[in-house]
Amino acid sequence: MVIKKFEFNPFPVNTYILWDEVSKEAIIIDAGCYFEEERTELINYIRDNKLTIKHLLATHLHLDHNFGNPFVSKTFNIKLEANKGDEFLLQNMEAQARAFNMPLPDAPIPIGKYINENDEISFGTNTLRAIHVPGHSPGSIVYYCEQEKVAFAGDVLFRSSIGRTDLAGGDFNTLIIGIKNKLFTLPDDTIVYPGHGPFTSIGFEKQHNPFI
Ligand SMILES: [Zn+2]
Repeated sequence: MVIKKFEFNPFPVNTYILWDEVSKEAIIIDAGCYFEEERTELINYIRDNKLTIKHLLATHLHLDHNFGNPFVSKTFNIKLEANKGDEFLLQNMEAQARAFNMPLPDAPIPIGKYINENDEISFGTNTLRAIHVPGHSPGSIVYYCEQEKVAFAGDVLFRSSIGRTDLAGGDFNTLIIGIKNKLFTLPDDTIVYPGHGPFTSIGFEKQHNPFI
């Protein structure tokens, strides 16, 4: 599995394209592209590698992770897949964007397919499993690939940090319990790709994360 990371928009958010080298089937996790040149960069990468986008997955639906979802959904004729717990966030997104002085490039689109705990998402020979870890947002999902020992954690877990819990529907204790019970039971050598900043591993965070 090839993992390509982009850093998009001023927050900045990690957008990932995962793809299978044989079938060229691919998925996008958190389309954060905001500016025209970021959209072009994403499209060019997909075109240059001759990828077929099979899924558009959201780790969660905070503003900064959702900027490019309408564009990607329309361009590749695919549904946005996310957990129902974050659906409410789509309703006040325009206002939130204005508050940050970052008008939305496109109006938010509804969730087209709900992702629930233990759902499996396949592309090529790869399978991701959904792990629901609320606390940063009610619908936060971590996408875990057991074969490749990688997890895409959104804003649940960062290198030596965790997601903030002061936003709508956030809860510190819920987040800590979820990380301990669901992420820290994954193998120590699982590489964690977060929604912001550098990658880390489960083993490193067990030892060094100051919040847990
Ligand atoms: Zn977030």
